[in-house]
Amino acid sequence: MKVIVVSGGVISGLGKGITTSSLGRLLKARGISVTIVKIDPYLNVDAGTMNPYQHGEVFVLDDGTEADLDLGNYERFLGQNMAGTHNLTTGKIYRSVIEKERRGDYLGNTVQIIPHVTGEIKRSIREVAQATGAEVVLVEVGGTVGDIESMPFLEALRELSYELGEGHMAFVHTTLVPVVGPVGEPKTKPTQHSVRELRAIGIRPNVIICRGPLPITSDIKAKISLFCDVPPDAVIAVPDQPSIYEVPLVLEAQGVGTLLTRILGLPERPPDYTTWKEFLATYRRCDGSVEVAVVGKYTELRDAYLSHSEAFHHCQGSLGVEIRLQWYDSEDIPKNPSLLARLQRSDAIIVPGGFGSRGTEGKIKAVEVARTGKIPYLGICYGFQLAAIEAARNVLGLPKANTTEVDATTPDPVVCVLEEQKGLHELGGTMRLGAQRIILTPGSKVAGLYGKGEIWERHRHRYEINPKYIEPLAAHGLVVGGMSVDGRVEVLEMPSHPFFVGVQYHPEFLSRPEAPHPLYMELVRAAMARKEVASPVAATPALA
Ligand code: GLN
Repeated sequence: MKVIVVSGGVISGLGKGITTSSLGRLLKARGISVTIVKIDPYLNVDAGTMNPYQHGEVFVLDDGTEADLDLGNYERFLGQNMAGTHNLTTGKIYRSVIEKERRGDYLGNTVQIIPHVTGEIKRSIREVAQATGAEVVLVEVGGTVGDIESMPFLEALRELSYELGEGHMAFVHTTLVPVVGPVGEPKTKPTQHSVRELRAIGIRPNVIICRGPLPITSDIKAKISLFCDVPPDAVIAVPDQPSIYEVPLVLEAQGVGTLLTRILGLPERPPDYTTWKEFLATYRRCDGSVEVAVVGKYTELRDAYLSHSEAFHHCQGSLGVEIRLQWYDSEDIPKNPSLLARLQRSDAIIVPGGFGSRGTEGKIKAVEVARTGKIPYLGICYGFQLAAIEAARNVLGLPKANTTEVDATTPDPVVCVLEEQKGLHELGGTMRLGAQRIILTPGSKVAGLYGKGEIWERHRHRYEINPKYIEPLAAHGLVVGGMSVDGRVEVLEMPSHPFFVGVQYHPEFLSRPEAPHPLYMELVRAAMARKEVASPVAATPALA
């Protein structure tokens, strides 16, 4: 078992997730099998109950775990699916220690942070290594070195390094090199302090990754090397990039792949980035653009819709057309006619998932704009449910149609609560979550796009389409394109429209740079057709 730990210093939000994912990619490019564990030192058991405004999007895994959004970065950079065991939180670790204590597993001993909590952390990491069989496990430690919350995790990793012995573990520390003053001088002091903090815990970094707005010179590297006790070639600069997908190549160009394989005694093989470079070449070569409206209620924090933005970047890297996302706060749409007018000029509209009543009328309006204006539309989860409600109101003539999530007493509950979940009151973990099997309707638009009759997609919802309304909606042009094996409506599509598809699931979680999702691809293609933009890419790569 070999382990690479990625810690962070100075401030949060340095892009540790992207760094960790990229390091994984460097090894994978050399044919080394890798996996990643994310440590979130907060007390929540998982990210499921967290406000997207505080923590960004909740990323849902195949097994239904509601995880930190970095798990999405790992999946996208590695092209591998993760499991819930790959996201450790203080809540999860403590819960398991307390359960063991209650069962009497500690045989009367005093249960303490060291060795019991640290022991549980080490056990959880070893378990992932065993379950996946990966040659290298990367461990990203959330938060900033020096935080009280991350102490037990760093201590556990220090212990693990001792247990595994020389040459089995590498510590990569990500820090900020700010540029200050009128002459734009890069400053190394924050890095020096944060490395000192790390060494006080007993961890000596092998590699220092310097984040900042600009590239750093060899003088600065030499200074960091001297003060932090790291060889100059292990001080790596990762200035801000036009795309996060450039980062593996930025690291590779500075020899990080070779450096890590040497530290860990792994085979030194030339890396293969063929498909990755193809993606980036097309991405950079953009010719023409389309404007896609994203209508949601957390639009002030883009991280709340991270996987959607990434899915569009993946399309851009396949089609060679710039996709400009225009963010609309759905609450403003009914109040602001100029916003509505702008929405009507979009090349495509997407309404992503959401919860609660705030902003739903604006989303329904956006669906109406897309349907009546023949603007390509993709509705995801709430955006799918609200598309059915819009059709019920404006096509079937049921003005009070609604979801019982918004109006519990509506005479037309087109969307209502899942039968088997009635009576569940706890908020954490009561939704229909994770990958579910879906049978696509033969001859439907979606069956053609996926190129198969059966798919697995990830879910996160409580409400569903009321079967009573399937027939009337179909009679008026909104037809079922797919059902889950247990009989829930998963896809609705409008054959008379250039592209109007709603899905109960979350396709954004499965889009990858090297395998963009067929629904996003078709939405963008429809937007390109509407705006008469041609792709500069002669033959677009086959869809996954
Ligand atoms: N609020 C809706 C539900 O619970 C949709 C959820 C979502 O969009 N993720 O079913």
